[in-house]
Amino acid sequence: MPESAGRVFARLSTDEPIANTEVVMGRAVVLGGSIAGLLAARVLSAHAESVVLIERDELPASAQRRRGTPHDGQLHTLMHGGRMQLERFFPGFGEQARAEGAIVSTAMNICAYADGVRKVSDGRMGLISSSRPFLESLIRRRTLDLPNVKVITCRAKGLVVEGNAVTGVRCATDSDEWVEEADFVVDATGRASKVGDWLADNGWQRPAMRRMAIDINYTTGLFTREPGDPELAAAIAYRTATSAPPRVATAAITAIERDRWLITIANYGRQEPIRGVEEFRSLCAGQPPVYREATSGEPVGDLLTYRQAESRRRDFHLLRRFPARLISVGDAVASFNPVYGQGMSSAALHASALSDYLRSGPDLDEPAFRFFQLQRVVVDAAWQISTSADLARPDVHGPYPRGYRFSSWLVGQIVDASIVDQRTAVRFNSVTYMRTHPSTLIKPSTLVRAFRVNRGRPA
Ligand SMILES: Cc1cc2nc3c(=O)[nH]c(=O)nc-3n(C[C@H](O)[C@H](O)[C@H](O)COP(=O)(O)OP(=O)(O)OC[C@H]3O[C@@H](n4cnc5c(N)ncnc54)[C@H](O)[C@@H]3O)c2cc1C
Repeated sequence: MPESAGRVFARLSTDEPIANTEVVMGRAVVLGGSIAGLLAARVLSAHAESVVLIERDELPASAQRRRGTPHDGQLHTLMHGGRMQLERFFPGFGEQARAEGAIVSTAMNICAYADGVRKVSDGRMGLISSSRPFLESLIRRRTLDLPNVKVITCRAKGLVVEGNAVTGVRCATDSDEWVEEADFVVDATGRASKVGDWLADNGWQRPAMRRMAIDINYTTGLFTREPGDPELAAAIAYRTATSAPPRVATAAITAIERDRWLITIANYGRQEPIRGVEEFRSLCAGQPPVYREATSGEPVGDLLTYRQAESRRRDFHLLRRFPARLISVGDAVASFNPVYGQGMSSAALHASALSDYLRSGPDLDEPAFRFFQLQRVVVDAAWQISTSADLARPDVHGPYPRGYRFSSWLVGQIVDASIVDQRTAVRFNSVTYMRTHPSTLIKPSTLVRAFRVNRGRPA
């Protein structure tokens, strides 16, 4: 009998140390040196004699923004599910992040507000609060410390496919072109990945793309964190769906390294841009008091904006013909509405799926269909969470999955109960933090408890 999605997810999201690794290939090549590529390289380092990371940016030695990741100035939260995988891949990661300046929160210094009402704390889950360049640079250092991993700075511009397998990657700089030979290739080039085109160039099918319009606008400001500011690691305040998209749909704060607050205001649709720090502060002043306090320090640099038109996923798991020795991971496979903070944790769980696949003794001369089936469980889970929340907005008009009305009513019961009931909050947050599979919510005991809480009866 096929394994259920819930069981696969439980195995991939485990915190068990990785054991029984075996070298099964000579040279692995990973395209893209951001979060997903680095984590794939970490996993491959235990299964390949050598791993080459191909990255078009010159990777900085420290935590700096870079051109290839234009979203890296925006607020990024590493959810608990992703954090646990980082601990598996790099033991002591959270402690090292804390020692170098990140704020590793307890659930006690995180707060969430739904329509201005403070949500009950789940009492358990912590997050790593830092800037994204800080997090990426720590992952990069840990990965490049591995003796068999190295980086080549160049552009990947195509695949070499011989027979039924990928055997190399076409690479280029401004002055040179060559082929990097490979026994296994991982595409981690982000949401604009060209792998579909490269496959089509070689006579293979490209994966179908599913899209959902979200039309989200981010505006992010950095402010100094002063003595006497709130003892807070992170806060999020959101408005539930209203007929007109609000000016502030979600406002999020993280305390980050070097005593700064990183604060994002997100809204949807065609809205006037936020014009300068004073308007940003006044919109924050309309939020719970911590927002006013966090924006009262000195602004550091200009406000940064980012717009994302859609969530999208490429359904590799549906392909029937695919070359062997090739997979895709991270945003190259699926990228969601960023307000739900799933991208980096998804990338970490894709890496866990790669580890599971390589430890299962696969025949590398066959297409990696089993990997795509494992990865699909992670993609489906994240897609379900983000699209069901987006579909609840009146300005989003589908596509609606089968049974949407009933399932959204059920989930709505759990969401409402999670605002006031700690036990429901623990179960619900565990899913949104990508620790457990969404199917764990549809248990009779969870649903009955949610109905009782929402009707004001003893749970
Ligand atoms: C506004 C915003 C906010 C977000 N907030 C969160 C959050 O709070 N929490 C969270 O978990 N996630 C968040 N995400 C998602 C997160 O940024 C990504 O999911 C995550 O970083 C994984 O990305 P990736 O490594 O797959 O791709 P990317 O980060 O896009 O990296 C792709 C890499 O490939 C390189 N590359 C591309 N093409 C080539 C080529 N041809 N040759 C060589 N190199 C190439 C690029 O230079 C880049 O380094 C957010 C995203 C956005 C846009």
